[in-house]
Amino acid sequence: MEASLLIIGAGPAGLLAAWTAARRGLPRDVWVVDRRPVPGAKLAVSGGGRGNLSHAATEEEFAAAFGRFGRFAVPAFRALPPDALRQRLAEIGVPTVADPAGRIYPRSQSAAQVRDALLAACTRAGVRFVFDRAVQNLAPPESPDAPWTVDSFSARSVVLAAGGQSAPHLGSDGSGFALARSLGYEIVPPVPALTSLRTAETWPAAHSGLSLPDVTIAIAGQRRVAERGELLFTHRGISGPAVLNFSGRVARRLRDGESVPIELDLAHAKLDFHALRQEDGSRPILAWLARILPRALAGTILDLAGIPADLTFSRLSAAQETELARHLVALPLTVQGTGGFKDSMATAGGISLKQVKPDTLEGRLTPRLHFAGEILDLDGPTGGWNLHWAFCSGFLAGTVADA
Ligand SMILES: Cc1cc2nc3c(=O)[nH]c(=O)nc-3n(C[C@H](O)[C@H](O)[C@H](O)COP(=O)(O)OP(=O)(O)OC[C@H]3O[C@@H](n4cnc5c(N)ncnc54)[C@H](O)[C@@H]3O)c2cc1C
Repeated sequence: MEASLLIIGAGPAGLLAAWTAARRGLPRDVWVVDRRPVPGAKLAVSGGGRGNLSHAATEEEFAAAFGRFGRFAVPAFRALPPDALRQRLAEIGVPTVADPAGRIYPRSQSAAQVRDALLAACTRAGVRFVFDRAVQNLAPPESPDAPWTVDSFSARSVVLAAGGQSAPHLGSDGSGFALARSLGYEIVPPVPALTSLRTAETWPAAHSGLSLPDVTIAIAGQRRVAERGELLFTHRGISGPAVLNFSGRVARRLRDGESVPIELDLAHAKLDFHALRQEDGSRPILAWLARILPRALAGTILDLAGIPADLTFSRLSAAQETELARHLVALPLTVQGTGGFKDSMATAGGISLKQVKPDTLEGRLTPRLHFAGEILDLDGPTGGWNLHWAFCSGFLAGTVADA
């Protein structure tokens, strides 16, 4: 079969690439091949089924959300900023709303509706699909003007949008990395991101289900590698938005060693024990602590700090004071693992950005092969950033691919 453009992967990146390219009216068909029987399986369950599709942000905020190499994402963001995405979605019957934090959702609160509308828009634009077939071979053109060979297809250009390695039951099993590697592309070793953390300490399990709205998590002794926000205790360790956003950084370190020491700042304020002693020296410390933390957790913190629950401020020794302060602003935990790819919402690592041109997303090693979405070495926090990256990078690839 001959195609102008062949897209590997019918996730949000591949669907946007296909829809965009087909609307250009290319000489031959746009084809999309996906290993799953249905397209956009991950998109359809995103945001707990509500689909946090994008985030109202400036170009600087978008780049910052993706960390050290975030500037790479700017040309794609400029090609399809959040307002333009919202407009395009509205055109296909998916009006969107933004919450006060800037997170953009479909008004229907249904991620599956977004997937269905994109699929219908692609079909109307003439995109052709093959489902339930994993691409196995990607062979580059044999001469400057020759086509690519992708299994039984020949295509002028290819977009590799096969996702990362997270939630493999939803389609992205890492086989896209193998295809890129077969062409000589370097893969920054993938690790799970946006996932929970498993701790060596068992005390968090006793508080499973308890959430704290404002905690700073940091790599022990490295306050600049930190994340602040809501934390949830689980039966195996910790989770919640701040932990998810922090998890990729821990996962990278876990790759190199057996465990990663981290610390939690539960108090955020300078603790003035002198004033507390003056104001109410006869008061049990537990009663004071239970005003800033849930009572059961306050008891655990005192236990960990080796302080009797009935001790009063007037009897708190200098050494005990130091220990209590340490357990409130740098509560130690040892991370031994993550939720793994199975339970992660994003993959950190992927195709090295050094080998891809940011303004076209074309690979530097091979002509007319573009990359889009999570397969690239970029991952953002929760809040709609990853889906926006998938959409805008797919849009850019579908706009510029040579046909
Ligand atoms: C449970 C969950 C909830 C999420 N919620 C949100 C959210 O609310 N907001 C947000 O911004 N992000 C969210 N994310 C992340 C977001 O869904 C991904 O970043 C995004 O889907 C990546 O898009 P993609 O098109 O690059 O890859 P994917 O969506 O992973 O799609 C890749 C496609 O390629 C196909 N494929 C893979 N290999 C091959 C092959 N060899 N041959 C053919 N096809 C292949 C797969 O079957 C798949 O359909 C969530 C992720 C998960 C797991």
